[in-house]
Amino acid sequence: MIERKDAMQRVRLAHTRSLLDELRRAGPLSRAELVQRTGLSRTTLFDIIADLLARNVVVEREPVVEGQRGRGRPSSAVSLNPAAGQIVGIDLGRARINAVVANVGHDILAGGSRKVAASAAPSRRAAAAIALVEELVERHGVDLSTLEAVGLGLPGLVRDPGRPDGSHGLTTAARRTVDRFREHFGAPVVADNNSHLAALAEATWGAAQDSGNVVYVRWSDGVGGGLIVDGRPVRGAHGAAGELGHVSLDPHGEPCPCGGRGCLELRIRTSALIAECTARGEPVEEVAGLLDRAAAGAAIPAAVVRDAAGLLGHVIAGTVVQLDPSRVVIGGDLGRLGDLVLDPVRQAIRRLAIPRHPRRLEVVAARLGDDDGALGAVAAVLRHGAPDPQLAPPGAAGGPGRPGSRG
Ligand SMILES: [Zn+2]
Repeated sequence: MIERKDAMQRVRLAHTRSLLDELRRAGPLSRAELVQRTGLSRTTLFDIIADLLARNVVVEREPVVEGQRGRGRPSSAVSLNPAAGQIVGIDLGRARINAVVANVGHDILAGGSRKVAASAAPSRRAAAAIALVEELVERHGVDLSTLEAVGLGLPGLVRDPGRPDGSHGLTTAARRTVDRFREHFGAPVVADNNSHLAALAEATWGAAQDSGNVVYVRWSDGVGGGLIVDGRPVRGAHGAAGELGHVSLDPHGEPCPCGGRGCLELRIRTSALIAECTARGEPVEEVAGLLDRAAAGAAIPAAVVRDAAGLLGHVIAGTVVQLDPSRVVIGGDLGRLGDLVLDPVRQAIRRLAIPRHPRRLEVVAARLGDDDGALGAVAAVLRHGAPDPQLAPPGAAGGPGRPGSRG
């Protein structure tokens, strides 16, 4: 009898965990969505939710429209108790720092950015990021007393290829930056490449929501990317998965700083496109000028962008053949040009990625803005797993949904 009771408790705990994991990763969900995502029966799910509401682990939120696409009737959503933990997300980009403060209920409490000189030393960039977070916290009156973790996006290689995938696999530079943030905030730090994080943000809140298999490209002056396969972000054995910009278009081409030759990035990075406009007889003023002129339909800039998008499409077609995604998302500066960029990519995929193989693949522009890396850093923390609800129920004094006040 006792064994049977233990077994039932274990099953119940596993069900509770899977429900909390869904709420953590996806944010507020209706009961119907939770039934669909967890595969639990309505009776079991409603029972677990009633228990979690009573213990203040989850709270009822304002009504949401089921499916979030304007169909169906509004129903109330359940979310993790927002007071249970805050998360700071930081994107330490090469020319700009973005930061957001969020909570485990997926509310964005504050966000902002700051320009930084591309030549600034890592310690100065870290100091600027910390100052930015402190300013945001002060201005928006955010309470970080239950700060759970800091998510950190860094450009380039974050993992040390010499030490595949170990828990101490960060490069020396990344480790130093991570230590700085951990000491300052007194919280764990989760670090990853910022293009990988932007992909995760699009999969969590943006253009790749509910797509389990995604190829994401961040196309600006660098060409980075991220892959989501069967719902999971893919880092690869050395943290370098999704580096589409360093796929070679020509084995005898120009040498690339990565050590390769003829890399896609050399041909389509924004600085190359600006140079190409000049070479074809229509100089443009920096990136903003390139984007404005191309969007306005100026013949040469638009043609330069279309040609580059065709090359990108050629490389993406190879990835499509190998990964069979349901969505390709183009972000970064060039993603803002919409169909001017998306159409050549669609055509290249149709023409080159096993045209006889029927597939439903959407090629869309990213939906999030410049804070995509910082949001992705928050999403990475949310995916890292929740504290055990049995061991650490949130204090949440004064927070929404006191025990017994609802449900
Ligand atoms: Zn390269």
